[in-house]
Amino acid sequence: MIEVTVEDYKMLLGDGVNIRYFDQGDKLPQKHQLHIELEDSSSIVCTVQMYGGMWVFKDGQNDNPYYIAAKEKTSPLTEQFDESYFMKLFKDTKQTASVKAFLATEQRIPGLGNGVLQDILFNAGINPKSKINSLSEKEQKKLFHCIKQTIWDMAENGGRDTEKDLFNASGGYKTVLSNKTVKSPCPVCGGTIVRQAYMGGNIYYCPECQPQK
Ligand SMILES: [Zn+2]
Repeated sequence: MIEVTVEDYKMLLGDGVNIRYFDQGDKLPQKHQLHIELEDSSSIVCTVQMYGGMWVFKDGQNDNPYYIAAKEKTSPLTEQFDESYFMKLFKDTKQTASVKAFLATEQRIPGLGNGVLQDILFNAGINPKSKINSLSEKEQKKLFHCIKQTIWDMAENGGRDTEKDLFNASGGYKTVLSNKTVKSPCPVCGGTIVRQAYMGGNIYYCPECQPQK
């Protein structure tokens, strides 16, 4: 989510909103949901996809649970998101939940959604459908480290290559598992990557490297 302060108001652009910058004189897209013209006549134009949303509200008057979680919950990019914090999240979750349900639903970890999930679990060698109570202590620790490392890599490289920035350029992080790579063999074992609809959004995994438990 991107929050912009506009005098007494907040403008909020959520995940699923395409935000593009256009110089003065550039041809603007005809279809859009928001056009902000700046003082130098350049523009920011937003289009909304699927679940995306845009809001304007007085500070303190937005009770959207995704917004509140994004503001209040500990980001995995911070030092406060350490192993003991992660283990508490893990223990506070219903133990029959799947790994995907634990990581990417109910806003336990802000910013960790379905798109980011795939490479984290590939790096950890964990299947998204495995139940969390099937993970050994070693796997729980590995999962924690892979969350930190993978999200950090994505942020450092300007986002995933499946997403575009303000200037319509793709992110510099090369996704291992995504709709861009689904036809390629597993980079570790050469096996076939599986794509399945599961809990709101496709999951991608290698059945060899990420056996389901
Ligand atoms: Zn593999």
